[in-house]
Amino acid sequence: MASLSIEKTHDRSGDGSTSDGGKITITNPSNGRRAGEVDVYARDQVEGVVERCRDAQVYWGALSPNQRGQLLRRYRDFLLDARDEIAETVASETGKPLAEVFAAEMMYVCDGIGYWSKKGGRYLADRRFSPHLLKTKVPMTTYKPRGVIGMITPWNFPFLLSIGEAIPALMAGNGVVIKPSSTTPLSAVLGARIAEEAGLPKGLLATVTGRGNVGWDLIDFVDMVSFTGSVEVGRKIQIKCAEQLKPSTMELGGKDPMIVCRDADLERAANGCVWGALSNSGQVCLSVERVYVDESIHDEFVRRVVSKVGELRQGLPNEDVDIGSMTSESQLRIVETQVEDARSKGAKVLAGGRRVAGREGLWYEATVISEVDDSMQLMREETFGPVIAIQKVKDENEAIERANDSNFGLSASVWSKDKVGAMNIARRIEAGAVCVNDHMIHMMIPEVSMGGIKESGMGHRHGAEGIRKFCQEQTLVIDRFGMKKEALWYPGMKNRARIFRRLLNVLFRSGLRNKLWG
Ligand code: NAD
Repeated sequence: MASLSIEKTHDRSGDGSTSDGGKITITNPSNGRRAGEVDVYARDQVEGVVERCRDAQVYWGALSPNQRGQLLRRYRDFLLDARDEIAETVASETGKPLAEVFAAEMMYVCDGIGYWSKKGGRYLADRRFSPHLLKTKVPMTTYKPRGVIGMITPWNFPFLLSIGEAIPALMAGNGVVIKPSSTTPLSAVLGARIAEEAGLPKGLLATVTGRGNVGWDLIDFVDMVSFTGSVEVGRKIQIKCAEQLKPSTMELGGKDPMIVCRDADLERAANGCVWGALSNSGQVCLSVERVYVDESIHDEFVRRVVSKVGELRQGLPNEDVDIGSMTSESQLRIVETQVEDARSKGAKVLAGGRRVAGREGLWYEATVISEVDDSMQLMREETFGPVIAIQKVKDENEAIERANDSNFGLSASVWSKDKVGAMNIARRIEAGAVCVNDHMIHMMIPEVSMGGIKESGMGHRHGAEGIRKFCQEQTLVIDRFGMKKEALWYPGMKNRARIFRRLLNVLFRSGLRNKLWG
């Protein structure tokens, strides 16, 4: 057992909420009012939830992928019936506009159910191989559910990253127990409740709520851990999983660069930058966090970005707005600290740059900063807030060098009218995904992998690995002809050395003459 007693009670995400004994009160970040409350699960309660999930999984895992897909599509209909309640719940604990809940969180989950229920069966089907050497054998790979997957999830997309993440795991035949962030647990709790109403086996998709120590306990009881969150917490969880030899996937933080080449379509690039950096108030792991712009177009690009940011409306979830509040007080403080650090080191704040004065809730102005450099926290550490930091570079080589000079490697983007040239730049960037003339859109394309390199994580969402990671891979080998004896079986050692010595040469030596006579 890891000696992490301090971390057991630590929860970076819990600071926006207050714990009252056995309850946590959730605060609406857009108005400071109470949004709801959840129980704090004790260790034995966590164990009980996992045991009930395990029981439900036995039935669920025995269904065919087709049957599971049907039930998940029924679940989707129930989610759609409840879409207003879901949107209001997500908005009440995150402060994001309702439009963002429908367009991002719910779109991802509903599309994911369609995608995994249709394609999941194909990814999970037995794969038969034709061996290159041992032609008398029929090998195949099969995929079996792991059992119960523990999902520890963050606050920035509380529905998408909990319920959406659970779909491929369920489709693979597992049960799922989610430990949502203590800042935003209501969305996952609601999603699990609707699953039961839709007829999924009771307890198959469950939640345990509380702070980090609840997630820490959950690890002990599940068969695999799927973690999405910060590098700091992910590292500790992976150490614990390693000690228990338990599989885990880590989807961690990012510091995504955007490279704007001299031949970029400036209007598209500026629009993409504003959206990529400010959607969800910049609280996206894939947010544009560093913008490197060729010096020949830098000033015009900055002018356009500042003008577009000036037109944005910030406000309450149900108003006609582009940007909502931030979600977590501690994150807002990180943004303030980084912007002040940049300002004190000579960066120019061209728009925003401070907490919205006199407004109840967690409001930070949409901010544009230029003349930043690598000495500033803003260009080194994850900001996770509504800030666009723009740095002038002399050419694409400098942009690539700066983009790669980071501990993170989640995603990136390149903006240029020359798509071939942009692809060549993309291949040189150290990131799990790079978009050309777009940003972070790969997250909405489940056919391709989404995951980070370097400190941004291990493992991938989406594609074949996005569902097979939730499976135990088993190899089956069947003998084809049923002969009484194989070449290696006993007895028969006498001539074997001579025969195999010769065979090695015939099989592997280059050149026919050498094969036969060497
Ligand atoms: P966090 O790491 O503080 O918390 C994530 C989850 O871990 C929460 O549920 C929290 O309660 C739990 N936790 C905290 N301490 C724990 C412990 N010791 N043991 C077990 N569980 C523990 O992250 P956050 O602040 O909620 O989320 C923001 C971070 O998540 C950012 O770094 C962001 O980039 C990252 N993120 C990554 C992705 C991705 O796909 N790569 C997606 C979204 C967010």
